[in-house]
Amino acid sequence: MRTVNHFISGKAIEGTSGRFGDIYNPNTGVVQARVDLATEAEVDKAVEAAKKALPEWSITNPQRRARILFKFKDLLEQNIDELAELLSSEHGKVVADSKGDVQRGIDVVEFACGIPHLQKGEYTEGAGPGIDVYSMRQPLGVVAGITPFNFPAMIPCWMFAVAIACGNTFVLKPSEKDPSVPVRLAELFLEAGGPEGGLNVVHGDKTSVDAILRHPDIKAVSFVGSSDIAQYVYATGTAHGKRVQAMGGAKNHGIIMPDCNMEQAVRDIVGAAYGSAGERCMALPVAVTVGKKTGDEFVERMLDAARGLRIGVSTDPDAHYGPVVSAAHKAKVENYIKMGVDEGADLVLDGRGHTLQGHENGYFIGPSLFDNVTPGMQSYKEEIFGPVLQVVRAGTLEEAVALPSNHQYGNGVAIFTSNGRAAREFAAQVNVGMVGINVPIPVPVSYHTFGGWKRSAFGDTNQHGPEGVRFWTKIKTVTQRWPEGDDIGDQAFIIPTMG
Ligand code: NAD
Repeated sequence: MRTVNHFISGKAIEGTSGRFGDIYNPNTGVVQARVDLATEAEVDKAVEAAKKALPEWSITNPQRRARILFKFKDLLEQNIDELAELLSSEHGKVVADSKGDVQRGIDVVEFACGIPHLQKGEYTEGAGPGIDVYSMRQPLGVVAGITPFNFPAMIPCWMFAVAIACGNTFVLKPSEKDPSVPVRLAELFLEAGGPEGGLNVVHGDKTSVDAILRHPDIKAVSFVGSSDIAQYVYATGTAHGKRVQAMGGAKNHGIIMPDCNMEQAVRDIVGAAYGSAGERCMALPVAVTVGKKTGDEFVERMLDAARGLRIGVSTDPDAHYGPVVSAAHKAKVENYIKMGVDEGADLVLDGRGHTLQGHENGYFIGPSLFDNVTPGMQSYKEEIFGPVLQVVRAGTLEEAVALPSNHQYGNGVAIFTSNGRAAREFAAQVNVGMVGINVPIPVPVSYHTFGGWKRSAFGDTNQHGPEGVRFWTKIKTVTQRWPEGDDIGDQAFIIPTMG
């Protein structure tokens, strides 16, 4: 059976722990490969490789670093089909959607190609008599990223592309559920001319995560995953003196106003709720309808749209979505559906027990639609992360806005309306980090920045965009004076002012 090895110092390195993770084919439920699970010593080895590559890479001039990133971008584009198929085979999302995952990663690499411009400091000439002040953004050193299963191409690129462009060297610990694409990314980065040890991949579970969080030579950690682990990573990493950003779970709401274009809203939300089997942190699993007529019309149309979805194997070009990632995740999602029923919500479409002929052991779940969900229900409060849409009925816009604002998660939110004034007010007031106006999945483009609020993100700096450059660099400010002749000054005991 194929084993996915670590990738350290530009080479595949066999694990020594004797521990492996199973990589399933979610279409069939069969184990298709296994992945090495690292020991602390193997994490150490990856850190050593990154340390070795650091001195030269950190002083390589930004334009040369950018040239390697341009080449890397080219290679990703040339290999996008192969990457998407590999991604799809381990994750289960359909190939077209997997291509989107890789493309979103390429977008961040493209952003990172602008590093000579992005990393420029600031300069003030004549801040005082003969005094100039300038600042520079220097790399942190060896840094690390820990990523979830649901975007195995895009999320590693969010992290390492920007970090490495800034002159850091990197240790990536991807999800053990679909680890092959992250290794391909590291191989392609090497092929593009990246330094050996510039981008290392160690696979593993809590043992490797803890080793990263405690490692004295790792200066910063970026994490994306579920909220409890994100909070743990943030607390542990910062306690060990690291800079940490840790993105967590989500429960994004879409507000459906009576004046919206209902056809557009339904078409958008059916994709945002059920696409990728709901396994997106920017999925839209809650629709809040404003007014009874809007609610009735929305549920009727959504029921039709959801019934029309085709669930298929991830290679089926006509499938809207494929299986979820694992048997355990399938059971978890189906338990939440049961919970919703037990709590008294109206299950108008039940996706449990969905089977695909010839793929009876695959992890397929049909679309589920709940009406009359209320904010007190546990199934509303928690992230389900599956193809389940919950409709909450609200009487007014104020009542509707309060729902995402008061929810424990605050990743994304959307409003569907034709009233610009209401939309503007909504965007300003809502207590959530990323807002869509007639846009169901408001994932910001790579040169803006990605990050939620509340339990969707711990730490204070977002992913990619200028915020990413700030996260992966430290600023140094220099105040310089070149006195002329015997102008030595006479106020050495007074705090210097520029007055
Ligand atoms: P997860 O939290 O189970 O795993 C994320 C990473 O943490 C993996 O690399 C995993 O190996 C590691 N990990 C798992 N258990 C651990 C433990 N006990 N101690 C230390 N490390 C541990 O998340 P997942 O199931 O892979 O991904 C889905 C979750 O990620 C969802 O909650 C989703 O909302 C979230 N997510 C958030 C964003 C965002 O930007 N906010 C983006 C994508 C996914």
